[in-house]
Amino acid sequence: NPKSYQAPDRLLENKVIAVTGAGDGIGAVAAKTFAAHGATVILIGRTVPKLEAVYDEIEAAGGPQPGIYPICLNGAVEKDYQDMHDRLEESFGKLDGLLHNAGELGQRTPIANYKLESWQKVMQVNVTAQFLMTKSLLPLLEKADHASIIFTSSGVGRVGKPFWGAYAVSKFATEGLCQVLANELDGTSNIRVNCINPGATRTRMRAAAYPAENPASVKTPQEIMPTYLYLMGDDSLDITGQSVDAQ
Ligand code: NDP
Repeated sequence: NPKSYQAPDRLLENKVIAVTGAGDGIGAVAAKTFAAHGATVILIGRTVPKLEAVYDEIEAAGGPQPGIYPICLNGAVEKDYQDMHDRLEESFGKLDGLLHNAGELGQRTPIANYKLESWQKVMQVNVTAQFLMTKSLLPLLEKADHASIIFTSSGVGRVGKPFWGAYAVSKFATEGLCQVLANELDGTSNIRVNCINPGATRTRMRAAAYPAENPASVKTPQEIMPTYLYLMGDDSLDITGQSVDAQ
C-alpha cells in the first residue's frame, strides 16, 4: 500500500531526480524528501529565490548538492526544453526520475464566463509544458537503469466538477498523457510512468481554491510523501500506467 510505504533511508541514493514547481507547496517538500533519501535533485521552477531557499535547506540538512533550473512553464518554447536536456546531460549524464508537479489553478468560474487567456495559460502550464519537457528528457531518462516519471493529477481529473474549468480539463489530459506514454513504453523501456492524485493538501493553491477552509483541516505535504517515495524508488519497478491516490 503506497500510502503507508516506509522508505528505506537510502532509497534514492545515486539517483538524479528533477522536480518541477520545486520552490513551493508539494514540490518543495517532495524535493527535500527525495534529497533526504539520497537523491541529487534538480529544482525546476520560475521563482529563483524560492528555489534557492529549498537548495539551502537541502544543503543544511546534509543532502547531496542540488541543481537549480529556472524556467517559466507558460513562456518556454520547444527549444528551451532541448536546452534543458543538453544542460542536464552535461551536468548529470542521466535522469532517474521526473516529477511533474508544477501547476496553475486558473479561474474558478463557469465555462460560460471562462476567459480564453486563463484557459490557454492553464493548458500550457499543466499539459503542454509537461508534454514538451517529457519529450525532451526521454533520452536522459533512457540512460538510467530504471526511471520513473510521475505526473500530478487531481480528483477533478477524474470527475469534472462544476466551476473547475481548464484546471479540471488539464488534469483529465494529464491522466491521458500518462496512460498513452506508459502504454508506449511498457515492456520495451526502462521507464515507468504513473500519476499521483495528492488529494486535499495544505498549500497556497489549496488555500486559493478553498479560501473559507481552515488549512489545519487538510493534510500537509509531508503526510503524502510515502506515495511519492514509493513511485520514485525501485520498490515500484512493476508499476506503470497507474493513477495512485496519495490519501
Ligand atoms: P502550489 O501553488 O503551492 O505550488 C505550485 C508550484 O508550481 C509552485 O512552485 C509554482 O511556482 C509552480 N508553478 C506554477 N506555475 C508555474 C509556471 N508557469 N512556471 C513554473 N512554475 C510554475 O501548489 P501545490 O503544491 O498545491 O500543487 C502541486 C501540484 O499538485 C499541482 O499540479 C496541483 O494541481 C496538484 N494538486 C494539488 C492539490 C492540493 O490540495 N494542494 C490537490 C490536487 C492536486 P511559484 O512558487 O513560483 O509560483
